Amino acid sequence: MRSAILLFLLLTLNVSSQEIAYYKQKFDKYLNLHHQLDSIVFFYQDKIVIKNNNKQEELTIYKDEIPTISKFLESEKLEVIEKFFLEKKNRQLTKREKDSILISIDEVYSFNKKNHLPLSGIRIAIDPGHFGYNYSTAKVEQRLLYFPNTHLNSKNDSAILYEGQLTYLTSKVLANKLEEQGAEILLTRNDVRHTAFGISFEEWMAKRKQKVLDSLFNKKELSYDKYVKLKKASPQQFFNLFFREYELLQRSKIINNFNPHLTIIIHYNVDEKNSPWKKPTTNNYSMCFIGGAFENNDLDKLVNKIHFLRLLLTQQIENSEKISSFTIQNFENQLSVNAAKTKDAKYLQTVCVPTNNEGVYCRNLLLTRHVISPLVYGESMCQDNILEYQKLTQYDYSYKNFKIPKRVYEVADAYFKSTMQYFNEIFFPNFTSQKK
Ligand SMILES: [Zn+2]
Repeated sequence: MRSAILLFLLLTLNVSSQEIAYYKQKFDKYLNLHHQLDSIVFFYQDKIVIKNNNKQEELTIYKDEIPTISKFLESEKLEVIEKFFLEKKNRQLTKREKDSILISIDEVYSFNKKNHLPLSGIRIAIDPGHFGYNYSTAKVEQRLLYFPNTHLNSKNDSAILYEGQLTYLTSKVLANKLEEQGAEILLTRNDVRHTAFGISFEEWMAKRKQKVLDSLFNKKELSYDKYVKLKKASPQQFFNLFFREYELLQRSKIINNFNPHLTIIIHYNVDEKNSPWKKPTTNNYSMCFIGGAFENNDLDKLVNKIHFLRLLLTQQIENSEKISSFTIQNFENQLSVNAAKTKDAKYLQTVCVPTNNEGVYCRNLLLTRHVISPLVYGESMCQDNILEYQKLTQYDYSYKNFKIPKRVYEVADAYFKSTMQYFNEIFFPNFTSQKK
């Protein structure tokens, strides 16, 4: 393990003097899904160029700008970065410009220890995936698992699982355990019923839908046709056409405003081969997603080019890979759930790039792209597995006066162990060496 850490340190310390070839390798390894960016992103000896649809050079990063721009990309607010690149385009920055950028940004990973606790001063964002907490909301976001008792061997009643409830309980336990270690925690949802807007989906639909649509239409961010369509849409259609992405963006905004040192995004998977999930499966696997795996139309907007450049030029993707590999190891060792192989699900082959760590995949999800920090997007198991669904529906464990499924506690503990390992083995040693 020690040699791996040493290698990592050398890697991070050398960033400032990297050749462009290093970024080309990184691009091939994490970012370029099935060579789809081959005719968009170009690597020369002294610069990296992103071209537009008309094959014109749209953004250029020169080799000598990389140390400055990489710090800028992980420290500044998105609006400031967008303004900067709109003005810069293919122009090379002067030394004075580079110096003034460096002076204006804070040390990105700096933190102030307030007490002796191991994670004192550390900010960790936790995102409990989804928001469905009852039959109707979980049905709207299609995160509802229902097994009628006729399909079950046990004499129990039918089984029902809401992913948004499992992720919330897991997040609460994890948050508690990390707070006990001194960390400052942000949850993107603070109530099992809430969306990232601090109210339930039903409440949002009743009180905010109209105002939000009017406002977007007035700002010309919504066409008249789409505006009318959304106004008339059923809750289910409205979720698919608008709310899913709108709410995920809100999660990324909350997380980025918190400026976390690490982000943990919590989900529970289902077995793809068990669709339409009316009965349990014998398959079970875990996976973790990190950023990367861009498709050719993913680089159309400026904001996505900025996220792409951050993943390419900073160490966030490597650090995400580290925390994710620890998480997969803990899922295997603590939960006895094996890491998913590419054959386990179609999306692992079509939209993901596998990393060197089994079970860790690059995937360009809204959150793995938008969140500006190292992250792990964890899918610890298949909820529809024949053993797991039974464990997940038993509220058989007491944690801080709450009854929760013991299995949920075990999942939270697996994330907790990986997080401690990440800070002890990667973050703190790296931070100390940067300070010297
Ligand atoms: Zn999910």
